[in-house]
Amino acid sequence: MALLITNECINCDVCEPECPNQAIFLGAEIYQINPDKCTECVGHFDEPQCVQVCPVNCIPVDPAHVEDRETLFKKFQRLQAQAKAPATPGVSS
Ligand code: SF4
Ligand code: SF4
Repeated sequence: MALLITNECINCDVCEPECPNQAIFLGAEIYQINPDKCTECVGHFDEPQCVQVCPVNCIPVDPAHVEDRETLFKKFQRLQAQAKAPATPGVSS
């Protein structure tokens, strides 16, 4: 599952630099998680790093993005491949 930041977030900025996938970003009002990038830290750590550091426990699993560990690991592999790939291919003319 990807995780979700609830509106209890106090914008403390602690979680964003801890995410190994750069999935956390500051939204219009509070921090948010991009479910396409969140692997629940699978592939990097045993536990979700954002949950470990959040002082107000406002990062539950996102019921709209239920994924098993194998799916999360495939997402991790895809993100790794994208990170290693050269710049975004341009549109050929
Ligand atoms: S669980 Fe891990 S990958 Fe997902 S947002 Fe938190 S730190 Fe990032
Ligand atoms: S650690 Fe928790 S309270 Fe702090 S910015 Fe992240 S989600 Fe919000």
